[in-house]
Amino acid sequence: KKPFVIDQAEYVQEVRNGSRLHLAKTITLIESTVADQQTIGQQLLKELLQYTGNTIRIGITGVPGAGKSTFIEAFGKMLCDQGYKVAVLAIDPSSSLTGGSILGDKTRMEELAKHPNAFIRPSPSAGTLGGVHKKSRETMLICEAAGYDVILVETVGVGQSETIVRGMVDFFLLLALTGAGDELQGMKKGIMELADAIIVNKADGSNEKLAKKTVAEYKQILHFLTPSSPNWTTPALAVSSLYKTGLDKVWETIQTFKKEMLLNNVWQYRRKEQTVAWFKTMIVDRLYDDFFSSTDKKQEMAQLEGLVRDGQVTVSQAVEELFSSNSKQ
Ligand code: GDP
Repeated sequence: KKPFVIDQAEYVQEVRNGSRLHLAKTITLIESTVADQQTIGQQLLKELLQYTGNTIRIGITGVPGAGKSTFIEAFGKMLCDQGYKVAVLAIDPSSSLTGGSILGDKTRMEELAKHPNAFIRPSPSAGTLGGVHKKSRETMLICEAAGYDVILVETVGVGQSETIVRGMVDFFLLLALTGAGDELQGMKKGIMELADAIIVNKADGSNEKLAKKTVAEYKQILHFLTPSSPNWTTPALAVSSLYKTGLDKVWETIQTFKKEMLLNNVWQYRRKEQTVAWFKTMIVDRLYDDFFSSTDKKQEMAQLEGLVRDGQVTVSQAVEELFSSNSKQ
């Protein structure tokens, strides 16, 4: 088999020059499960890493239907029109049944995708945690090296994915709906405590009054919760992504946040801690993958499973057995 080779210096140059094609191809290499492609992806990332960091990373979560893609499209377009370059790591709502995409990646955020300052990278939600996966962080860094100053990372509210995205971004935004009475009670306090701002979407038409009321309710609840970031009071704001109102206020809030967090060093500190946490996560992932991809282990596990099922060995004994044979190899 011919080894996979590319002109790496040219790739780095083209990504830096803003070639979307090279950016997309580099991300594909990063995400690849083919060993030599993955290796080249990592080599490219290593070269590009020096150009990352001078950005704002924003995570956006909310239940399906909250208006995430409508918000990202409107918010992203506003920023692009102001001259920012915006990269979106978006969820591609794919079906785990068909393995394919229901909507495809074209129908969501179509308008933003056409903007010269925007780049949208959809990742399938199937097989990932709410649209984030192991390589999302590296994808984000590649986008930064390509000159994107605002990175929007979309995730759908499934609990664990929110924690992962919070660990990737500087600012975390929860998109909520009106008539939150029930939603508020059902909503996990934990997710509200991850947020740096709560945005009540669809504050338009006959819904506007209710949105204002919901904002007030959220403010009251936030009062009793621990803010996600030190020296920061998590605000609640009303927006309409459809009619594009309140979006400037969201951006203002994020910029105030950045200023405050830079002043008290939380910004820099958090990013360093996030990198260390990522390192630890990668170690665990690697151990997990190595262990479960070993054919020997698979056989041994299958045998032990039978013994455990029949009560011939205890679970602890079986685990001990698996790991002791591991160290013998
Ligand atoms: P997602 O599943 O969170 O990405 O939600 P979508 O962005 O697909 O929005 C779900 C539905 O809500 C769509 O029919 C949108 O048109 C609608 N929607 C989104 N934002 C607004 C808004 O600000 N006002 C109104 N009235 N409808 C909205």
